[in-house]
Amino acid sequence: MINWNFNPYALSLIGTGVFSMVVAIQVFLRWKNRESLLLGFAMVLIAEWSFFVGFESAVQDQILKVLFAKFSYFGVFNCLPLFFLFVTRYFRIGPQMTRTQLALLWAVPICVILLAATNDYHHLIWSGFVTPPDSPYDTLVYLRGPLYWLGLIYNYLILLVMSVIVTRQYLATRLSIHKSQSLIFVLSILPPLLANILYVLRIPLIKNLDITPIGFFLSGLLVFVALNKYRLLEIAPIARSMLFDNLAESLVVVDGQNAIVDINRSGQQLLRYPQENWMGINLEEGLINIPGLQYKMSMKTGFHLESTLESSQTLEIDGQLITDENRGFAGWLLAIRDITSRKKTEKVEIERRLFAEALRDVSMAVNSTLNLNEVLERILSSVFEFLPCNMANILLIENGVAHVEIFHGYISPEEIDWVKAAKFKVEEVENLKKMYETGQPMFIPDTRKVDYFTNPNVLSYLGAPIRVKNKVIGFLNLDSNKANVFNSNEEADRLIAFADLAGIAIDNARMYQKMEENAIIDSLTGINNRRSLLQAAEKEFERSRRHNTPISIIMLDIDNFKLINDTCGHQAGDSVLADVGKVLAAFIRKIDTAGRYGGDEFCILLPDTTLIEARAAAIRLLDEFHQIKVPGVSHDNYLQASLGVAWKDENTATLEDLLVRADQAMYQAKKRGRNRVEVL
Ligand code: GH3
Ligand code: MG
Repeated sequence: MINWNFNPYALSLIGTGVFSMVVAIQVFLRWKNRESLLLGFAMVLIAEWSFFVGFESAVQDQILKVLFAKFSYFGVFNCLPLFFLFVTRYFRIGPQMTRTQLALLWAVPICVILLAATNDYHHLIWSGFVTPPDSPYDTLVYLRGPLYWLGLIYNYLILLVMSVIVTRQYLATRLSIHKSQSLIFVLSILPPLLANILYVLRIPLIKNLDITPIGFFLSGLLVFVALNKYRLLEIAPIARSMLFDNLAESLVVVDGQNAIVDINRSGQQLLRYPQENWMGINLEEGLINIPGLQYKMSMKTGFHLESTLESSQTLEIDGQLITDENRGFAGWLLAIRDITSRKKTEKVEIERRLFAEALRDVSMAVNSTLNLNEVLERILSSVFEFLPCNMANILLIENGVAHVEIFHGYISPEEIDWVKAAKFKVEEVENLKKMYETGQPMFIPDTRKVDYFTNPNVLSYLGAPIRVKNKVIGFLNLDSNKANVFNSNEEADRLIAFADLAGIAIDNARMYQKMEENAIIDSLTGINNRRSLLQAAEKEFERSRRHNTPISIIMLDIDNFKLINDTCGHQAGDSVLADVGKVLAAFIRKIDTAGRYGGDEFCILLPDTTLIEARAAAIRLLDEFHQIKVPGVSHDNYLQASLGVAWKDENTATLEDLLVRADQAMYQAKKRGRNRVEVL
């Protein structure tokens, strides 16, 4: 039969045990990181300790008392190392402990627990037990043996180290929630510490009662509050050193002599430092050379530097001065970022923008000027700016043969002569043929690998066809004197953009040329139309009047032209008119102007020509007409016409007068039987 006396002291300890268990369960229910499990186990041990100290006090039998005291040692000596482990892991102090380190940490506690269990044989922990008469609740007093002090000192050491750690954390942490967390830890160490000191000193107030578990009760309460209020187990504070090491940005701390005193992991990688051995290395010795850095650091003011290394890696470095307490120069904090890819993107962006601007400029030029040469020059110089070539030319195709229309970059006179005279049959030159057939650009990185490039100055080639309405009409060619300069579709895409603009320019120019021709040339006969003829005549008449030189006019009209139309059709008539145009163009001198005056009526202006000379010319011309075969006309199947000749005499005041007189002469010829020349 066991006699119990649950005195207030025993009950408060058992209460402490219960409360500790509640906290432990709370921890197990809420754990978010592994560290909190350590706290949970520590609380279980505190509960065990409290329960057995409580039972020890309540039980009346001395043998049981000692037995319970031995049991309580299990909790006492396991809970502190566990607490220690929790605190170091929680604040991430130092690396995770190895097994050996853990064994060392537990060596003393295990010894003490075993010694307490076997105390009956050696009395090293407790040398004896007495019950002093004035002891409250018949408390058994344990006389302390030599190794009792070993356990005590060890526990105190752990408590001391833990106090230092949490106090330092408290002082070093800036973030308020982490500060509160550290403060809770600092405070939670105080109650058991104070309680134990009071017990060990055996101060009269508590006599021989061990109130240490009650101290832990208060600790448990604090931690419990922290659990709820500060989410103690959810937000683990992160050590500054970890922060430093885990930053993606590379950080290097150097002292006043430029010796490295700290460098984070990212910094070691970026600057290719060995894992250890960086401490104390001078910045100039160990670092990969960062151009401009030494100079910036010698200025001893904060700086921002962008530097491109030999490896074409670009770094961005922010240098911040570190000052000592007296605001004197103590060293540098260098924050380094690798901005190579950002720089590359920026460069590509800038190039794209410039290219787009150049294209826009060139297309504006294409639209604003009709001078083809000017536009093509502009295109070639833009191409020179954007593509790495030494020579460039534009070839235009005429009847399957390409000739150089315009060129850039040829230096030696021989080369210039060659390029000016160069003519290529598109069919026979492989690259031209390919582009002609596919309508696509092409590049040859190394021309030595193909047999149709003979110019030793051309080692890399890029070409694009110039297209007008889907027809290849020429080529834009780039040559480089270095091999492998042109080796990507990106450059080909750029070139084709310029080649397309060249196509538009050439198309515009050709259309304009045609329009201009249409305005002065009669499309059927190929000689001047009435308007341009009269313009030229006006000019010549004025000149002749000023210089008092002769000027004559032949006016002619085809005889019975209607008949050709009526018998052989309008087309046959057209063909006769075209023949007349050809005869006239071939017949006249350089200074003369021939033109179609109306339907089948033509006019020839003869400057510096007297009436006699003009009449002779008209007779010769009529002879030539007789060579033209005319289908289906009754009279002898050759062309006949009536010609009237007039010249400027003293009665001829205006061109109008002269034309009227030539017309009258022509009518005279009609009247007098046609197919003849009459003079007025
Ligand atoms: P004549 O000997 O009196 O000149 O008689 P003709 O038949 O030549 O008569 P006329 O000169 O008055 O008639 C000219 C005809 O030429 C009238 C018109 O139908 C025709 N003609 C005018 N322009 C063209 C043209 O561009 N093509 C063709 N096929 N016929 C035209
Ligand atoms: Mg006629």
